[in-house]
Amino acid sequence: MSRQAYVNGHFYAHGDAMVHVEDRGFQFADGVYEVWAVFDGKLADFKGHMDRLERSLDELRIDRPMSRAALTNVLRETVRRNRVRDGLCYIQITRGQARRDHPFPDPPVAPSLIVTSRSVDQASAAAKALKGVAVVTVPETRWARCDIKSVALLPNILAKQAAKEKGAAEAWFVDDLGLVTEGSSTNAWIVDSEGVLRTRDTNANILRGITRHNLIDLAHEAGIEVSQRPFSVEEAKQAKEAFFTAASAFVMPVISVDGTKIGDGKPGPITSKLRTIYLENARSAAV
Ligand code: PMP
Repeated sequence: MSRQAYVNGHFYAHGDAMVHVEDRGFQFADGVYEVWAVFDGKLADFKGHMDRLERSLDELRIDRPMSRAALTNVLRETVRRNRVRDGLCYIQITRGQARRDHPFPDPPVAPSLIVTSRSVDQASAAAKALKGVAVVTVPETRWARCDIKSVALLPNILAKQAAKEKGAAEAWFVDDLGLVTEGSSTNAWIVDSEGVLRTRDTNANILRGITRHNLIDLAHEAGIEVSQRPFSVEEAKQAKEAFFTAASAFVMPVISVDGTKIGDGKPGPITSKLRTIYLENARSAAV
C-alpha cells in the first residue's frame, strides 16, 4: 500500500495531499508541529509530545482542531495506513485558511490539521550511533520563543544546512555569551571534564525537549547525576563525552565539535548507556 497523509478530515494518497494557497501555515508559518517516534507501530513518549502540542497551540491562541482522543485516533490511523513499524509520525496544526492579512482571521476559521507518518531504517540509524557524528556551532539567530514548537524553522534549516555543508550531522546554536543553547532540531548535552552530565536549563530560550525531559529522569534512576547548567563551546570541546537528543535521534553520540575531537573521538560509555536505557524505556512505554 502506498503512503497516505491526513489533511483536514480526509486521508489522501501522499502525492495528492495538499493545503490551500492561503493557509496561514504556508503564508506566515502561523502554526505548530509535533513529532513522535514510532516503535512497533506505537507512539513513543506519547503524553509528553501531546501535552507540548497543546501548550504550543495555547501559547499561540490556535484552537484545537479536535479532542485529544479524536486526535490520538487520527495519529494511530495514519501510522496504521502507512504500515509504519519503526519510524516517525508528524502533526502540523496551523491557524487555518483565510484571506492574507496579518491579524488572526475574524471571524475565526477552523485550524488546519495535517498528519503524516513514515518508516525509518533503524538499523542504519543504530550504525550511525555506533560511530557517532560531528557537530558544528553557529550563532543563535532565533526568536525569543523557542519554547513554542512553531513550524517557523528558517534559522534551524540554515543551521542544519551549514552543518551538512561541513560534513556534520547537527549544528549547535551559541548565544551572545558563548553558551550552547540547543541544536537545530535536538537538545545538546555533554559529560563535562569533571564527569558531570550537563544540558541547558529550560529557563533558557530552548525547546523543552521531551527526550531531554525523560532522559533526565532515566539518568537519575541510573544513578547518573544531571546538572541543568549552560556550557560553553570551549567546555564542549574539553568534555569527556557529548551527545544530542530528539524523538528523531534518541540519544546520538557526538564525536567532534567544530572539528575538535571529543574525548578519544568515539562514542563515550555514559552516552552509550543512556542511549540503551532510553531506547529500552521508550519502546516499552510506547502506546
Ligand atoms: N530542539 C529543537 C529545536 C527541536 O526541533 C527538537 C526536535 N523536535 C528538539 C530540541 C528535541 O525535542 P524532542 O526530544 O521533544 O524531540
